[in-house]
Amino acid sequence: MQKHVSFIGKGVPLALLITVLLLTAGFASAQTTAIRAGNLIDPAAGTALKGQIILVKDGKIVEVGPKVQIPDGAEVIDLTNAWVMPGLMDGHTHITLDFDMSSGFDTIYLRESSAMRALRGLKTAQDILQTGFTVVRDVGNDANYAAVDIRDAIRKGWFTGPTVLTTGKIIAPFGGQTHRISPEQGRFWLFEYIDADTVDEVRKAVRQNIYYGADAIKLVSDNSAFYYTVEEIRAASEEAHAAGLVVSVHVMGGEAARNVILGGADSIEHGFDLSDELLELMKEKGTWLLGTEFPQAHLEKLDPAGTMGQAKEEAAKYIDRLKRAYKIGVKMAFSTDSVSNLPGKNRGDMMLDYLDMWDAAGVPPAATLKAMTTDAAEFLRIGKTRGSIAKGMAADIIATPANPLENIQALRQVSFVMKAGRVVKTKR
Ligand SMILES: [Zn+2]
Repeated sequence: MQKHVSFIGKGVPLALLITVLLLTAGFASAQTTAIRAGNLIDPAAGTALKGQIILVKDGKIVEVGPKVQIPDGAEVIDLTNAWVMPGLMDGHTHITLDFDMSSGFDTIYLRESSAMRALRGLKTAQDILQTGFTVVRDVGNDANYAAVDIRDAIRKGWFTGPTVLTTGKIIAPFGGQTHRISPEQGRFWLFEYIDADTVDEVRKAVRQNIYYGADAIKLVSDNSAFYYTVEEIRAASEEAHAAGLVVSVHVMGGEAARNVILGGADSIEHGFDLSDELLELMKEKGTWLLGTEFPQAHLEKLDPAGTMGQAKEEAAKYIDRLKRAYKIGVKMAFSTDSVSNLPGKNRGDMMLDYLDMWDAAGVPPAATLKAMTTDAAEFLRIGKTRGSIAKGMAADIIATPANPLENIQALRQVSFVMKAGRVVKTKR
């Protein structure tokens, strides 16, 4: 303690100290930045305008147009040769995880503390931001609410990172996503899940997550032979909606999925076995699909023993389901469920690999980009502040050298990232 006192006394001039404080606190944020965008993409319309100027101040877009006056002293960023668009979003991630099925969920739950998970989550979030994702939703399996802490630490400005949204602990029927843990071990999965097996338990579990800071609610319905009823899903939906939160449910298909749709949940996560009839029902009820279509190479890494099925056949099944969902017109937000890294790839690169699946399913690039920006923002209920480049929106802006409306793979080459008005990546 005394050392700190003598440090200031020993000769850091007060004027210098004040200057440094002013520079770090207020001055930088008052700066206006002007971006010269050669091609500015509107993902909602699937179009691009040439020669636009975007003015950014205090983290927000204050003006956009072809003839915007650049104020004296503004910092000018030249993206005249680039394609400029809002930052990307992933609606289904697990930033605190890095595992495969051979080590299993259970091992990571037992061997890693919430602190370790939070540190990995922060690192992963920062990698993801570098690849162009400015918003990620963490849908549970984050130890003891570690993603809430990551979100808050980034929000406080302690660290650079994307906007993190979190669902808190996963609510599930008895046992969560574990299997046959011996009774002597007790319910150690409660470190990651909330057991909820009646309408009242579901209501209480939703309230617990809201209390601890969740932005949305996630349930796993059909990981066991038993699954949630319409009434249980409805209870979760009522509680969450009353608090302004969306409800997302892990479910594959069949009767369990029908219960999820009829119970008023906002999204089905995965839905690998959804029939056309259920996809039609989703469209009718306005249920979103966050389809997490794993590419074959990811399945091979995640599940080398093939316990989830043969990777090639599984990937083909996911492509077919994505194709059918797009054709039927189900609302979709881009989602990956990426939980591990392959050699030479960080988590953001892994997430961009899912573009291959959208391409293989025949989804046009403009529709894929919309699912990654405007549509994702609508689903996540942040569409009023993020997901497009317009006056008043947060300055989450990225750029690529090639046009993603022609070839969505252009997103693998994101050369510029601005997060809330701060440049976090430039490659010119
Ligand atoms: Zn998941």
